[in-house]
Amino acid sequence: MVSPFLYTVDPARIIFGSGSVERLAEAIGTQGCKRALVLSTRPQQAMAQEIAAGLGPLAAGLFADATMHTPVEVTERAMAAFADAAADCVVAIGGGSTIGLGKAIAHRNDTPQIVVATTYAGSEVTPILGQTENGLKTTVRHSGILPEVVIYDPDLTLGLPVAMSVNSGLNAMAHAIEGLYARDRNPISSMMAIEGIRALKDALPQIIKDPHDTGSRSDALYGSWLCGTVLGAVGMALHHKLCHTLGGSFDLPHAETHAIMLPHSAAYNAVEAADALKPAADLFCGSLGAGLHDFAASLGAPMALRDLGLKEAELDRAADLAVRMPYWNPRPVERHAIRALLQGAWEGARPQ
Ligand code: NAD
Repeated sequence: MVSPFLYTVDPARIIFGSGSVERLAEAIGTQGCKRALVLSTRPQQAMAQEIAAGLGPLAAGLFADATMHTPVEVTERAMAAFADAAADCVVAIGGGSTIGLGKAIAHRNDTPQIVVATTYAGSEVTPILGQTENGLKTTVRHSGILPEVVIYDPDLTLGLPVAMSVNSGLNAMAHAIEGLYARDRNPISSMMAIEGIRALKDALPQIIKDPHDTGSRSDALYGSWLCGTVLGAVGMALHHKLCHTLGGSFDLPHAETHAIMLPHSAAYNAVEAADALKPAADLFCGSLGAGLHDFAASLGAPMALRDLGLKEAELDRAADLAVRMPYWNPRPVERHAIRALLQGAWEGARPQ
């Protein structure tokens, strides 16, 4: 029986396919804009410069200082660059860090955002902005934060290093797995979640074999769009709370932390959310925790929190923080059980 649900569609235009970055000028035009401030990180500055050059006068400037966790100080400098360039929109070219900067600008001045997404993190299709000030990360959710147009061109992901591709792909899968048991899930978000997990499960091993294969890069980007859309559409639970705690309070890297935590958080919820998780468990030999662990190991993903530099002595504090103001979760979030989960993730144990 289909349970009662609420389904809200976020308005965004998605342009997908090899060579689709050629449609960037058209995408800017659909927003009625004429002067884009192009955003990137330092490592992607050359890529952004080349794309900006192709835009001609539509590119009013380039700001290449996007930084992970969206520091407010960087946003303020980017706002000044936006004003100096007399820009009327932003074009973010990159992963979650660059997209976060575009969102931070739009949150302040309501400018249209066009994103050229080059990782699998999924931020481009969520109305969520995380930003940091004085060492504190806060999150805001608002419809105006959602980018208006997203271009997914797999050609731009051919150079995404294999390790980053694997971690980013597992980060995307985590959005979908949590989306399957979200309290506010609906039939559409669940369909997208399963299809996204399937696409990434098939694509990631192929990317390891041949990182320059456009076919598997397309499949992974397609999966990441679906998984990101699920993240934007429904509430997240224990897995994201644990990753926010480990990233925010222990400075662990974003995608790697998601990759390590996913088998453990999935195993934690496996019994209480068994029905919702069954289609995903079926993709991983029937046991989601152990199956995801084996899958991540086969991809050469990082498996243990200790390998990210977390000290065993810090696990108690991590457990304390993770159970404080918990997100809704299908299984009660109990301190002793969370402490045991963290121990397993720290050691890289195979969840049962
Ligand atoms: P990232 O954007 O920091 O990218 C990692 C590095 O890879 C950067 O140096 C980047 O320039 C480089 N890179 C990106 N694409 C590349 C490519 N195709 N080829 C070569 N190099 C490339 O990493 P991320 O994992 O995409 O994003 C992480 C950030 O995004 C975190 O701050 C996280 O909190 C945020 N995030 C936010 C949401 C949301 O909905 N608000 C969702 C997911 C992630």
